Amino acid sequence: MSAGGPESSIMFIAGTRPEAVKLAPLVLDMRAQGRAAVLVATGQHREMFGEALAGFGLVADHDLGVMAAQPDAVVGQLVPMLADLIRRLEPGFVVVQGDTSSTLAGALAARYAGVRLAHVEAGLRTGTDDPHPEEMHRKLVAQMAQLHFAPTPAAAAALAAEGVRDGVHVTGNSGIDALLLMAARLEGDAGLADAAVAPFAHVPKGRPWILATIHRRENRGRRLAAVLAALGELADEAEILLPVHPSPAVAGPVRAMLGGRVGVHLLPPLPYAGFVALMLRSALVLTDSGGVQEEAPALGLPCLVLRDGTERPEGLASGNAWLVGAQRAAIVAAARAVLTDAALHARMAVPALPYGDGSAAARINDVLLRPGPTSSRQRLESWSGSAAHRPQSQAARR
Ligand code: UDP
Repeated sequence: MSAGGPESSIMFIAGTRPEAVKLAPLVLDMRAQGRAAVLVATGQHREMFGEALAGFGLVADHDLGVMAAQPDAVVGQLVPMLADLIRRLEPGFVVVQGDTSSTLAGALAARYAGVRLAHVEAGLRTGTDDPHPEEMHRKLVAQMAQLHFAPTPAAAAALAAEGVRDGVHVTGNSGIDALLLMAARLEGDAGLADAAVAPFAHVPKGRPWILATIHRRENRGRRLAAVLAALGELADEAEILLPVHPSPAVAGPVRAMLGGRVGVHLLPPLPYAGFVALMLRSALVLTDSGGVQEEAPALGLPCLVLRDGTERPEGLASGNAWLVGAQRAAIVAAARAVLTDAALHARMAVPALPYGDGSAAARINDVLLRPGPTSSRQRLESWSGSAAHRPQSQAARR
């Protein structure tokens, strides 16, 4: 296995929007230290990926352009292309993030090419085969990686329960770094803030805003129809803002069921700055997104999770989120309760940081660059899982 010299580069492989958001802080921090970070786009999500990277002033150094509908086709095409690139560039580490087909392909390619592998956001488990294939991807990558960056103590415990104990570091989730970075930029840059809100500047402000996102494979078909029916019903009492995922299996039913409905605002997928601005402005979020489940507590945005189980239980424990599933009546009842009971809303809107404190990238890079004669920084303590600080309450938005 290639050890990589002290000056060798670190290769980051990413393909989807959440991978772009969550690896951007690592790439920025690595480059700020004067270290070579090579960013490889697999092509899995073309526009949403590029847009998310652009929000951080980044572009991919290599774009493999592999876009296929099925995960097996993505993995099958990517592995030899990535292995070839890794052999040519000889990075000291390959870093993959999360649970996508690009994650698995990057991990396999690194190991076939004999280069050390690091997994960011390791150890998230539902303990079931749902979501599929994501849970399987995460478990397989845990068997391959030399370094496992668990966002929370619970994620590290899940790895230990599978016998993965060496090379595990609890760091917080780098998605919280990205969020706090973007929230601060929005606060300090009026031009950016104005541009960010432009896609939803037309939405009336008299009623509360419910932000909704839905895209997961396990929520398609009948479950998606039930969620959309619930959103249609809630439009009688709130403005519904729904950035529509471009997948035809999502966008088709969304337009058929909610297109033209008064009080429902179908938006394009938003650039990251716009989406953060929308979270800051909304009274409630309904989502099946992993990243949004992590971001909402940090912003004090009450969150209803449209799934039957979650690999991110920390937001439930902190009281910021509820698991409501995908039944129409349950979703409507829960959303009404949160919007009409001011005391309940206030409890769920207390900002909390169960997923990270915004220093995950620095902790992860510190480990990646060890032993570090060239790293002058002090080693950072690992993330304890409790908030070192809490962000300011966002109650002003309502
Ligand atoms: N996001 C975004 N624009 C949108 C919707 C979401 O930038 O219109 C961001 C969101 O803030 C989070 C990430 O995309 O950081 C989540 O991605 P997604 O829901 O697609 O994937 P998941 O997190 O479920 O893997």
